[in-house]
Amino acid sequence: MVVGLGDPEVPVALVHAPLTIAPVPFPREAFQRAKDAATVFNTLIDCVAADDEYLRRTLALAARYDDFTARLLGVFAATQEVREARRAQELVLAINRSDYMLDEPSGRLLQVEVNTIASSFGCLSTLVSQLHAYLMERAGRPAAELARLPPHDARTEIADAIAAAAKEHGTDSDAVLMVVQPGERNAYDQYWVATVLWERHRVRTLRRTLAEVAEGARLGDGGALAVGGARIAVVYFRAGYSPNDYPTEAEWRARELLERSDAALCPSIAYQLAGAKKVQQDLAVPGVVERFLPSAAEADAVRACFAGLWGLDDSEAPEVREVLARAEASPDDFVLKPQREGGGNNLYGEELAAQLRKREGLAAYILMQRIRPPANTAAMLRKGQLEQVETVSEVGVFGTLVRRGERVLLNREAGHLVRTKAITSNEGGVAAGFAVLDSPFLV
Ligand code: ADP
Ligand code: MG
Ligand code: MG
Repeated sequence: MVVGLGDPEVPVALVHAPLTIAPVPFPREAFQRAKDAATVFNTLIDCVAADDEYLRRTLALAARYDDFTARLLGVFAATQEVREARRAQELVLAINRSDYMLDEPSGRLLQVEVNTIASSFGCLSTLVSQLHAYLMERAGRPAAELARLPPHDARTEIADAIAAAAKEHGTDSDAVLMVVQPGERNAYDQYWVATVLWERHRVRTLRRTLAEVAEGARLGDGGALAVGGARIAVVYFRAGYSPNDYPTEAEWRARELLERSDAALCPSIAYQLAGAKKVQQDLAVPGVVERFLPSAAEADAVRACFAGLWGLDDSEAPEVREVLARAEASPDDFVLKPQREGGGNNLYGEELAAQLRKREGLAAYILMQRIRPPANTAAMLRKGQLEQVETVSEVGVFGTLVRRGERVLLNREAGHLVRTKAITSNEGGVAAGFAVLDSPFLV
């Protein structure tokens, strides 16, 4: 099997994921807060995703200026009847990841975003944590230091959640359909999930691109989904979050076909929309989170990690004019985000200011306070080359949820991920080439 033949200058078929060789210091208390918030964010996203009206209303204006959001809303509208018919018995599988950075000036832990589709690196992160512990032990570090490496097993948690949804779906012969990008470089993070699914649960996984689904998937009566002779219990998307994943109408047809199936969709279109940047911004508006989370303690827990977020729907509204003026004057204090996932899409600095000055189509973006994480020094290993750099880090906490109708079968904090990047880099994705995998050393 040859996977990940990326750089023609590297004369091997396999390139290791970029990583640090030692964990990064991270405050224990903030880390624990991020962990504790995972199940609350699961509940919040689950409630948002179940509110069709809210999603339509919140995303309507962004969709007017952003074709991709409009297409997703199109699938959402086209499948409304199926969704309504199934709602009482709906099988939900969520694998979310909420990402945070410490803000040094305020001392707060602030949420960067929540991912509801293709929340990746659970498996590689588990391995990097193990590797860091191993290296520290081999290097003779004292037990008190090793105790500062929080154990976790995102790999098993993610596979267990998928298996729980598959089990709830039906018979033992059911399989998981993993929807992947053609030529995926980060394939091993995905193969690990499939391996654990088989080894722990005897659940088989099929890998297909959306084009292959368009070609080979069949939808039977009542939404029974068949691919490659298998009945599909769970559709696990590791693709479908970017417009590039839909080069032709065939991929959109495939997405809609999957949406009509009775499989647990991780995520459904509704869940994907609930993870939109625009929704994140709207949730920060006073009273919105409180509507979805009636428990004041839960609402406070998520609100505590919201950064400054502004919608730009009406650039003439006084509060929008005020923040636009501030952002144009000090663009480095803000990040401008379109409705995109996967890294490399945000605007910073002069580019941000130029887009704001245009005033046109701003509803497709959200404006966010620039978080200022504390700097560290880390040794990064990329393609076998070690490099010492000044860095900042982002912590992600996975959350898994399985629900059938009103019955929540599982709602768990499911492990963590640390990504570290050069302080000079604006963006942060590992797959996008900006960051490397890391693990926390609690201080
Ligand atoms: P994506 O869905 O593409 O991952 P993110 O919102 O996570 O979008 O942004 C990508 C990266 O940009 C993050 O990993 C982080 O490094 C950086 N970033 C995003 N928002 C902020 C912010 N408010 N302050 C500082 N950096 C940010
Ligand atoms: Mg994202
Ligand atoms: Mg991100």
